[in-house]
Amino acid sequence: MQDKSMLMIPGPTPVPESVLLSLSKHPIGHRSGDFSEIMAAVMAGLKWLHQTTNDVLILTASGTGAMEAGIINFLSAGDRVLVGCNGKFGDRWGEVCDAYSLKTERITAPWGQPLNPDDFKAALEADTAKTIKAVIITHSETSTGVINDLEAISRHVKAHGQALIIVDAVTSLGAVNVPVDEWGLDVVGSGSQKGYMIPPGLAFVSVSAKAWEAYKTATLPKFYLDLGKYRKDAAKNTTPFTPPVNLFFALKTALEMMQAEGLENIFARHHRLMQATRAAMKALNLPLYAPDHCASPAITAVAPQGVEAEKIRSLMKKRFDIALAGGQDHLKGQIFRLGHLGFVSDRDILAAVSALEVVLGELGYTNFSPGAGVAAASRVLTTA
Ligand SMILES: *Cc1c(COP(=O)(O)O)cnc(C)c1O
Repeated sequence: MQDKSMLMIPGPTPVPESVLLSLSKHPIGHRSGDFSEIMAAVMAGLKWLHQTTNDVLILTASGTGAMEAGIINFLSAGDRVLVGCNGKFGDRWGEVCDAYSLKTERITAPWGQPLNPDDFKAALEADTAKTIKAVIITHSETSTGVINDLEAISRHVKAHGQALIIVDAVTSLGAVNVPVDEWGLDVVGSGSQKGYMIPPGLAFVSVSAKAWEAYKTATLPKFYLDLGKYRKDAAKNTTPFTPPVNLFFALKTALEMMQAEGLENIFARHHRLMQATRAAMKALNLPLYAPDHCASPAITAVAPQGVEAEKIRSLMKKRFDIALAGGQDHLKGQIFRLGHLGFVSDRDILAAVSALEVVLGELGYTNFSPGAGVAAASRVLTTA
């Protein structure tokens, strides 16, 4: 049916109607007073969302652009960096570091498992000569549905004293607590199509005073992604290059919606959605890819047995117009991923779980009693 499509992938995520309506206006000049007012409002909203007094700069890019900017503005060729790799995105930051000739050391964990903070502690404590310039971590690893213990890793980086901590918070910001100032996170990257509830196209980078110190001596080449330019223009409530002004209208509306809901409520909602989804999958005897203790509140990865993940995905799309994500790299065909990030409510989970039960039945999967998934999700979502 036309216009009934439901995104349950981890980005792009669903967009509220009021945000869609904000997009459908004539563009305005980005050197106008009207734009400056919007810019001032969204910058304040971004600081609120990041729980920081640091600069939060806005780029026209996807999340990868934010992370690339976060790496090239504060480092120089040959710098020693530790990169946490336990999934597709951690691996990507390793590739970015390699591309810029950094001395990249990967700290790995198997896909589906969290990074071990003690591995970072050991490497940082052994570095008495203070040669490690940065530690680069993916907070919520979207490829596997694992959340890494950023707070613990960040504590070890702070104890080192010299290294910056650079964080991919693309599917954690706006879903789970990321208190940038409290945890001392130097550089935090995110993208509009995830927790922000707006379409793809904007990327965000928060930068600490310590990172700006490193910026002064960093020599990697940069032009469009030179954050110094964005900082200078942000002080005048504008951007160095023409921004997608309509996405700024959308961002303003979305941040207002988030502020009306409140951070604690946003985090509680994502936690509840995760719990309901996981309870349903367990009740349907569909194995969860990430263990409970490190489950991301943004996304649940499921490794079905006795029924093919790709068949589930294609029938969910065909029968119910619900888009689920597949596995990436070696997980292709092994898992499906259900996103519950951003503009997602209890109702969406109930709809997705009941649709999944129909699809499982139609695919001949017999290892469940019909209704068991919905009952398990309903129990989590029943508050009285
Ligand atoms: C989506 C995502 C990104 C950014 O990907 P883009 O396609 O560049 O927006 C980065 N990290 C994580 C963990 C993500 O989920």
